[in-house]
Amino acid sequence: MSDNFIPNFDLLLKGGRVLDPANGIDDNLDVGISGMVIGAVEKDIASSRSLRTVDVTGLIVSPGLIDLHAHFWGYEWSIKPDELCLASGVTTAVDAGGSGYLTFDEFNEKVISKSKVRIFALLNIAALGMTGEPEQDLEGMSVEFSLQKILQRPDLLIGVKVAHYLGPGWEPLDRAVEVARNSKTFVMVDQNPVESRPMEQMLLEHMDPGDVVTHCYGSGKNMIDFADDVYPYFFAARDRGIKFDVGHGAGSFSWRVAQSSIDQGFFPDTISTDLHSLSYLNNQATMPETMSKLLLCGIPIQDVFKMSTIDPAKHIGLPALGSLTISSIADVAVFKLSEGNFGFTDNGKSGSRVRNGNLRLEPEITIKDGMVFWDRNGRTKSDWHQTASISSPHI
Ligand SMILES: [Zn+2]
Repeated sequence: MSDNFIPNFDLLLKGGRVLDPANGIDDNLDVGISGMVIGAVEKDIASSRSLRTVDVTGLIVSPGLIDLHAHFWGYEWSIKPDELCLASGVTTAVDAGGSGYLTFDEFNEKVISKSKVRIFALLNIAALGMTGEPEQDLEGMSVEFSLQKILQRPDLLIGVKVAHYLGPGWEPLDRAVEVARNSKTFVMVDQNPVESRPMEQMLLEHMDPGDVVTHCYGSGKNMIDFADDVYPYFFAARDRGIKFDVGHGAGSFSWRVAQSSIDQGFFPDTISTDLHSLSYLNNQATMPETMSKLLLCGIPIQDVFKMSTIDPAKHIGLPALGSLTISSIADVAVFKLSEGNFGFTDNGKSGSRVRNGNLRLEPEITIKDGMVFWDRNGRTKSDWHQTASISSPHI
């Protein structure tokens, strides 16, 4: 077949290093996008087959990133989703418990339905989510109404969140687990241990396989003992199927905890940001920045992308969103892996320290549903000399 046909792609990303862990790909390949879907991932696709060709030589091309833990509603430091997500290579993000069964509809109406980035939500077991007297109203934590809400909107509500409960005992967690079991979803847990609620018991007796501990490298959880050894019950929890999510945040990422754990083979299952205005201002904790930190801890780049694309996609039950498989939705992110001398900061009880590293992932282009939403260097644009005369009647 001749290449001089009607172009079969609208956009061709040519010459990049394709990192698509879902398909075991780490190779120099071209990616053709047709409308809203991936049309081809092949060597040497002719430019004549595409309406537009973008030279991405020297850049990384991956599926759009999936941020399993961010804040767009309810929390006083919530952010508007599009600007920071799409500018960071994130095409799908999960609001982690900003809303409860009483507030989810408003969140959907005012934010989810109006956003360009694809948003799912974890329903907070607290009726009002993170608003009001945040997450302390035990009476409002209704299994029945939370379950009803998730079953009403399974297209948007992909799990349950329980967090920050300061009282004693297990009621909030146990109720959240019951909702998750009955809706066939999972619970994301952010509960620092207290005397009546030890972490070991939480991990081994109260959570179920598939449930997620977020902020796993936060100093408040805490994964390591005084000798920096990972507590054995964290490994036991992993063996029984509990998942561990980074959830960087403004107080939940410690270099010491992360590096010690990773040195002992305790890698995260998913990389996420806990994005809100403080985590962005304190640590610039976007997905690419958080991924750069885990790269610096020694996690291979293929795994870093796996934990940021296909693994979270599988966890929310939508694996097609985390790959560049032919015919899947064209959510694509392009990054520059910059070399230099960069400072990366942590937070929390670690005291906000800096660590220098030589590699930083920088978001260059973000494509969602086949449309370009972010293009840091105008690579998808035509040259400015093509600007028509200002007096031209054609502009
Ligand atoms: Zn959070």
